[in-house]
Amino acid sequence: MIKLLLVEDDHKEALRINTMLKEGLQDQFTLEQRLTVSDALDLVQQRCFQAIILDLHLPEGQSFESIPQFIQYCPGAPILILSGVEDEEQAILAVKSGAQDYLIKGQTSSSTLCRAIRYAIERHRATQRITELAHYDHLTGLANRGLFYERLNCAVARCNRNDMAMALLFLDLDHFKAINDRLGHECGDSLLKTVAARIKKCIREIDTGVRLGGDEFAILLEQIVSVEDIGAVAERILQLVAQPIIVQHHQLQITASLGVTIYPWDSANPQDLLAHADAAMYRAKAQGGNNYQFYTAGMKTAGLDGSTLEVELQRALAKKEFLLHYQPQLDLRTKQVIGMEALLRWHHPYQGLIGPNNFIPQAEENGMILPIGEWVLRAASKQAKYWEKQGFPTPHVAVNLSARQIHQGNLPTLIQDILQQTHLDPENLKLELTETFLIHETEATLHTLRELKAMGVHLYIDDFGAGYASLRYLKLFPVDGIKLDISLIQELPHNTNDAAIVKAIISLGRALGLQVIAEGVENQEQVDFLEEHDCDAIQGYWVAPPLPANESAQHMVQA
Ligand code: C2E
Ligand code: CA
Ligand code: CA
Repeated sequence: MIKLLLVEDDHKEALRINTMLKEGLQDQFTLEQRLTVSDALDLVQQRCFQAIILDLHLPEGQSFESIPQFIQYCPGAPILILSGVEDEEQAILAVKSGAQDYLIKGQTSSSTLCRAIRYAIERHRATQRITELAHYDHLTGLANRGLFYERLNCAVARCNRNDMAMALLFLDLDHFKAINDRLGHECGDSLLKTVAARIKKCIREIDTGVRLGGDEFAILLEQIVSVEDIGAVAERILQLVAQPIIVQHHQLQITASLGVTIYPWDSANPQDLLAHADAAMYRAKAQGGNNYQFYTAGMKTAGLDGSTLEVELQRALAKKEFLLHYQPQLDLRTKQVIGMEALLRWHHPYQGLIGPNNFIPQAEENGMILPIGEWVLRAASKQAKYWEKQGFPTPHVAVNLSARQIHQGNLPTLIQDILQQTHLDPENLKLELTETFLIHETEATLHTLRELKAMGVHLYIDDFGAGYASLRYLKLFPVDGIKLDISLIQELPHNTNDAAIVKAIISLGRALGLQVIAEGVENQEQVDFLEEHDCDAIQGYWVAPPLPANESAQHMVQA
């Protein structure tokens, strides 16, 4: 049964059309008639039609202007224009306005009319299918990222016009990757489908559910009346998502983290919305997941205590924006590279490559150094293992540790764990500790260092000579070597004071059986001086700057 709507004020014409349809469609249709565009628009908002036949000349004037409205309210129905005059220009204008066809009264037979309707419906279905494919996520049927931006722009325009607010929710599933890895992609896909269906259940017709990609979803809530309403929807989504899901005989449970931002309250700039919601979502993650956070509340305090960077660092970790560069260390006697120092870099999406001095101090303060440091240890160990497999003779990596990592207590367990997972020879892992945290020497620190040492990991004192250069620590702590601070090397050999200190440290190191590595070596004069005074190894631009792993490896000689 084809449901048709005829918008025609001329009764005689309407009757004629009805007769033609009866003849051509043999009662396989229903026909509703309205005399004016506004009545017809009212009707299409309540009922569905498969095609709309629209008279061009109605009492309200030309019908062209109303075509977009019909399309908006009744996107499933193609529009056929009926005109009393044959006019090519008008016909083109009609099609440009969104009509499927332009028929001329008096020249249209029953068969042409019915065929035009059938074709229009088919064509319309096909174009709709194509738009659907282009706009909707295949797996879940939710809007995709492309359509999301379109809808977002429309929603922003509506908000501005009607002086209303809307909310953008950013949803990310907690630990989805683990489930996906454990049970396979098919399970992961079913899970995503179920989550999408549950999100749909929680929102109204006017809202938009989106799959942004992976396990990330967005929800646009329009015509917001109160913040409590948004909270209620967020709550409902979290509850429903957390209900058990049966997937291929497995009963699973997954939770989500939700970030919420409100336009225009949080920002008058629509471009910021997704980033704000994303940031709020990371807040929710940081709270342990399975909760929602509003952008405003979270970020306002963040601005005060500097934890905007904390949120950024959390994101950076999750989005894999960190990377390591490696700087070779050269044995001065054999002239061979004996290892690499891993130096952290942050590939920021907007700011480009950021050096560690710009975020490590803050990360130490807010505690983010712990997860970041763990990532560095894992990544560097994996790299060392890779070099080991490639047959480099001494593929050790040196990793910088911050005081907080030593004091966190479980460092030896963590490192043991990493060594086991990567199968890296402990001898190939060196840890660089700065002098400053040895100053706060405690029984616990000493104990931790001894445990590490017992595992076979090598310990170095970094930046030696920059501060206290206290020789006491060298005897007290079980270290394997020291790294001469860059400030002592820079003015060699002309600065006689520095030269004297360097000479003394080298001979002391020798006496204590410690390896001495000079850092920040940039020129031949420095190399000559250090060689002459029996320094063990050097590191610095003279050998090579810190570089991506594969480039740095070119300085190593394969056995
Ligand atoms: P650092 O451990 O003293 O590292 C040596 C720094 O000197 C590096 O800076 C390196 O790029 C730079 N450098 C190397 N050769 C030369 C040279 O010939 N001349 C000069 N002028 N500079 C040279 P970078 O990479 O910016 O690292 C700065 C500091 O950030 C490091 O100092 C280290 O304390 C810290 N850091 C780096 N990665 C990590 C990490 O993964 N964890 C922790 N906790 N700290 C890290
Ligand atoms: Ca270092
Ligand atoms: Ca150093």
